[in-house]
Amino acid sequence: MDPKLIVEKNKEFSVVCCARVAKDCSENGGWCDSEEEAQEWVEDECWIFSGEGWFCIQCNSHYMSNLTQTRRDKGLNSLLPDGWDDNLEVGIDTVR
Ligand SMILES: [Zn+2]
Repeated sequence: MDPKLIVEKNKEFSVVCCARVAKDCSENGGWCDSEEEAQEWVEDECWIFSGEGWFCIQCNSHYMSNLTQTRRDKGLNSLLPDGWDDNLEVGIDTVR
């Protein structure tokens, strides 16, 4: 449980997005008075818990819609198996 999931600044806490792949990544959630509240904040915002950390909704939708195009600087491309780019449905309606 060591990865840094929550940052503290001026005695306020905020959950960090562990993905940071989306251009519009939130990077961290709302600032709250306690770690518990910070976590509730991201739960309310429908962030996704991956097991390693939280993904903001922007990064989650980035993953969902750009599985074949994720060629950011994290080398994710090399992790994708060959033939992965069968036509995935990209028509996910994003709630705005
Ligand atoms: Zn993010």
